[in-house]
Amino acid sequence: MATTTTTPDAVKQITYLAAALKAPRIIEAATRLADQARDAGWTHEDYLAAVLEREVSARNASGAELRIRAAGFGARKTIEDFDWDAQPAVRQPVGSLASGGFLTEARNVVLLGPPGTGKTHLATALGIVAARHGHRVLFATATDWVTRLTDAHRQGRLPAELARLRRYGLIIVDEVGYLPFEQDAANLFFQLVSSRYEHASLILTSNLPFSSWGGVFGDQAVAAAMIDRIVHHADVLTLKGISYRLRGRGIDSLPSIRTTTGETEN
Ligand code: ADP
Ligand code: MG
Repeated sequence: MATTTTTPDAVKQITYLAAALKAPRIIEAATRLADQARDAGWTHEDYLAAVLEREVSARNASGAELRIRAAGFGARKTIEDFDWDAQPAVRQPVGSLASGGFLTEARNVVLLGPPGTGKTHLATALGIVAARHGHRVLFATATDWVTRLTDAHRQGRLPAELARLRRYGLIIVDEVGYLPFEQDAANLFFQLVSSRYEHASLILTSNLPFSSWGGVFGDQAVAAAMIDRIVHHADVLTLKGISYRLRGRGIDSLPSIRTTTGETEN
């Protein structure tokens, strides 16, 4: 580039045009990078690319932040925060999932394991990955999902609600199995799973093995049909060991609880 200095008129025009484009970072980047471009002898194309890149990366970052806040996570947990020494077996599969490929393939993830082993943590962390990859995400417990679907059903807008939810690249259903469902609720939940099948991803967490889901859904046939759809294209990860919350406290396990499904929870 020629070693001219910026004309005030051009700067004014850039400010006006960037505002018209609703691209505020261009205003700041344009003058700052112009000085850098002159010093380093960039081509016009290099300069334009650098300016546009600032705007695009700022937009991506703030878009991800908005999607993370809209997702409804209980707490912000990331892959980087996860202590793999506690769950060495899932390090590699979670690492592959973190590339985000499962979302574009509409694959599901199921996280199974006893309380406190990091199911909600990893589900949230993968949700944050999805938001960063540009997918809209919604997180809620199974009980909350059932309430939401029941309300929609009562108001005669279940199909509209399911269609709306399909626009989310990822739906996270936390804590399947903590509470058993009524038959109606189980059917609504089945419809959610069916409507996303091969279309958009689900992450489910549960403290119960699949073999006990029949008790949760009150119906072996509904549970079997649903599990079939969930796991057809899914990574099923089983977390093991004692609760991370109890580590180092001299407590080896939680007391076993008899759940209403007759399963032993620990
Ligand atoms: P679960 O959903 O399996 O009951 P959580 O994911 O809620 O368990 O984990 C309980 C707490 O322990 C959370 O604060 C979580 O961040 C933390 N935690 C669990 N496992 C790990 C781990 N391997 N590394 C870091 N924190 C963990
Ligand atoms: Mg949990």
